[in-house]
Amino acid sequence: MPENSLAERSARAAQSAGRAAGYCWLEHPDGGAHCTRPPHTGQQHVDYYNGRTSPTDTNGHEWEE
Ligand SMILES: [Zn+2]
Repeated sequence: MPENSLAERSARAAQSAGRAAGYCWLEHPDGGAHCTRPPHTGQQHVDYYNGRTSPTDTNGHEWEE
């Protein structure tokens, strides 16, 4: 029976938590961000919670994939 590292289990838990919350949750290619749009078509992903330089910014970290 395979033993998973804590990091692997944490990553999987975070993944399902994001999906369960109703997000697209695609991980940014550079890591550290997940798409927080609702599940969508197209390649424009946005993490509304990371990449903002101030709390009043409306856009977060955007990327295409
Ligand atoms: Zn997305």
